[in-house]
Amino acid sequence: MNSKIEWPDGKQFAFTIFDDPDWDTVENVAAMYSFLGDIGLRTTKAVWPVRGNGTPKVGGATCEDEPYLKCILNLKEQGFEIALHNATYHTSTREQTTRGLEIFRRLFGHDPYSMANHADCRENIYWGRARLSGRTQVVYDLLRLIKNGRHDEFQGHIEASPLFWGDLCRDKIKYVRNFIFGDLNTLKVCPVMPYHDPARPYVNYWFASSEGATLESFNAMLTEDNQDKLMREGGACIMYTHFAKGFVGSGKLNRRFKSLLERLSSMNGWFVPVHTLLDFILQVRGVASITQVERNDLERRWLWHKLLHTRGRS
Ligand SMILES: [Zn+2]
Repeated sequence: MNSKIEWPDGKQFAFTIFDDPDWDTVENVAAMYSFLGDIGLRTTKAVWPVRGNGTPKVGGATCEDEPYLKCILNLKEQGFEIALHNATYHTSTREQTTRGLEIFRRLFGHDPYSMANHADCRENIYWGRARLSGRTQVVYDLLRLIKNGRHDEFQGHIEASPLFWGDLCRDKIKYVRNFIFGDLNTLKVCPVMPYHDPARPYVNYWFASSEGATLESFNAMLTEDNQDKLMREGGACIMYTHFAKGFVGSGKLNRRFKSLLERLSSMNGWFVPVHTLLDFILQVRGVASITQVERNDLERRWLWHKLLHTRGRS
């Protein structure tokens, strides 16, 4: 599939960010988003609607924290997309996920347009080994066995499980994030996105992202050379990140990060939230269903990327 798209208003490329709420504090979010707002970016901020009743491996502020919610509502007002990162920061039953989705809708006036699984939640949908098929799944299983002696078990798509919420995902959420790659031009490495995967029917459309989980990987991905290349290629980037992880220190943004984003924002790009970008691609292209061959290729490339470049959480 050709990855070239003609962007609206003569823009030469598209760029957005999906920001995961791991480690979020109101101070971090306020400092980061006042900067993003000022330079004209309108990106996607994922949240946990509910404060969990257990101790998470990785947690952060939730929409039950009043000042945080105020800050998130303010972002929505400014045109940022608010997305979902599971009901909360640890495993939720179907009832808890249902409640989380209801609270999301009550707070933001609509169901989530997009979501990403939180690494430690067992109700994640098509996660762990269920992200993969055939031989790639066998390789993944072997690697997991070497690493921690067990297969992980994610059950959001398994109808018999008390954690099942696949039908709710299908009925309420349009886009779910899957594979992450080491190229700033996400659309070039996953030209079929947003795609439907007939083997994973509870997700309407999947999207991929570019690697930027930490400050270091984000800055390494967004170098001046890569920005120029993204523009030359007329591509689209969805960075996946955790803005609470090292980007802001003592109320100040990392200087390199700031200058890279200022440079990018002065270029002729289309800076819209994740769902606006994906809606546009769908509208131009029509609905795409991924084929077995395309899926095998994505899975293999992702597994290599994960083995070589990332540490764990994507
Ligand atoms: Zn997370």
